[in-house]
Amino acid sequence: MSVTGDLIERAERHSAHNYHPLPVVVREARGAWVTDVEGRRYLDCLAGYSSLNFGHGNEEILKAAEDQLRRVTLTSRAFFHDRFAGFCEGLAALCGKDMVLPMNTGAEAVETAIKVARKWGYEVKGVRPDKANIVVMEDNFHGRTTTIVSFSTDPDARDGFGPATPGFRIVKYGSAEAIHEAIDADTVAVLLEPIQGEAGVLVPPDGYLRQVRDICTENDVLLIADEIQSGLGRTGDTFACDHEGVVPDMYVLGKALGGGVVPVSAVVADADVLGVIKPGQHGSTFGGNPLACAVGHTVVELLRTGEYQARARELGAVLHERLRALIGPAGQGGHGVVAVRGRGLWAGVDIDPTLGTGRQVCEILLRHGVLAKDTHGSTIRLAPPLVVSAEDLHWAADRLIDALAEL
Ligand code: PLP
Repeated sequence: MSVTGDLIERAERHSAHNYHPLPVVVREARGAWVTDVEGRRYLDCLAGYSSLNFGHGNEEILKAAEDQLRRVTLTSRAFFHDRFAGFCEGLAALCGKDMVLPMNTGAEAVETAIKVARKWGYEVKGVRPDKANIVVMEDNFHGRTTTIVSFSTDPDARDGFGPATPGFRIVKYGSAEAIHEAIDADTVAVLLEPIQGEAGVLVPPDGYLRQVRDICTENDVLLIADEIQSGLGRTGDTFACDHEGVVPDMYVLGKALGGGVVPVSAVVADADVLGVIKPGQHGSTFGGNPLACAVGHTVVELLRTGEYQARARELGAVLHERLRALIGPAGQGGHGVVAVRGRGLWAGVDIDPTLGTGRQVCEILLRHGVLAKDTHGSTIRLAPPLVVSAEDLHWAADRLIDALAEL
């Protein structure tokens, strides 16, 4: 048996089957490229679901992590440590907010935002005890905890994990009117992804985020933007909300905040919102640890230059131009792609479902040296590290043409 076959067989035997990975076993990676255990190279067009915005093995991030590893890695929040203030100050400034509440995973940060919003509702807005509701979107993806899957509309994510946590109202994504209708006196927040990633990189209609912002302000409701996947440079701006000049009341961040090295997530908001949380009411043993703060602070510094946002914008234009040219029936000017969505270096490509599944395309792409991941049947999402080159993108687009031709 090959090394790959052996490692996959043992992994399947001894790990829960909560994922269905492509049959590749990665050994090392640099920049936008990874190498498998057989020595084959692949262009990484998933980037850890946008966790690797700054590339594999980014030197500045590695240096910060290595320096910190040798000094102190964990204190718990029972004590202060010398990396905490700088990270929180820098991240708050990047977001134009007062305060940061650091956690580890994205789902934990979303849970944190839900708790903060509820508490804010009771203590500041004056919502009736235990009656708070939060308006959420159809086809959302905010993580895998029991409360979060309670308001998922994906049966795979939700079914079999009840009883559901109450207090959520699900409305159609992209309709500001639906949000307006769902809000009542007990509504504390609207929680949304400014671009829905897992749903297939769905970009809402122009003006939607601005309208939602206005509705929230008029109704004394917090706008929570889950920018875990869309934020930190991916779309060509620091945040996807920036495209409409919208400032949410709470940013929920994760993924790329950990530089692809450690899990780092955070809720970022002003003091009148985050200030509702008092000692003993929320926390995490690893949240805000020295290693996480050293890496997270470096990520903030990298974003402060605007260089990565500009790369996402410019290279995103290259990627989208190439992908749009694939739209149309195969052999009649197109390549069997029915739609392309996205912003910056982030794209959802819908292939004609009669030709094959997204999974099939990704399996063929793998043979051609491109790592990508399907979502929801016939969609392929592409989100390479922001350090990718234009040449790499052209090469990947050519491989996608090859893969589509093989269906
Ligand atoms: N929110 C969004 C928008 C996400 O895309 C994800 C992960 O894909 C999460 C939350 C959950 O993050 P994590 O897997 O780190 O818990």
